[in-house]
Amino acid sequence: MNVKNCRRCGKIFNYIGGQPICPSCREEIEKKFEVVKNYIRENPKASIPQICEECEVDTSQLQQWIREERLVFSDDSPVGIPCEKCGTMIHAGKYCDKCKAELANGLSASIAKPEAPKIEPKRDPRGNPAMRFLK
Ligand SMILES: [Zn+2]
Ligand SMILES: [Zn+2]
Repeated sequence: MNVKNCRRCGKIFNYIGGQPICPSCREEIEKKFEVVKNYIRENPKASIPQICEECEVDTSQLQQWIREERLVFSDDSPVGIPCEKCGTMIHAGKYCDKCKAELANGLSASIAKPEAPKIEPKRDPRGNPAMRFLK
């Protein structure tokens, strides 16, 4: 049997995998997630400190949901977390679109087939044109 201390409350529980968090804390976190999700839906322009304060949630927890892409923010939302590769502010996930594309290219290059499909440079119509002038 695998037992661990809950990272959140310190209680010992039967660890079954994933994050070391006991079932009751997990449930609480899920409830909190619903609260945050509803709050963001009603306040699409809320910032991270605002959400944390209003919903009484840890910044790290909030960021984790953003990394897991469980929370979705609109493009004009002030919420942002840095891309893990280059530090550009993004709304969800781990990497910005540019790094994601680079990673995808790197991946396909390592398993390159003789007949690689032609990759056309993809233009994101939602992309911020101002970004292209930042060198
Ligand atoms: Zn716990
Ligand atoms: Zn990046």
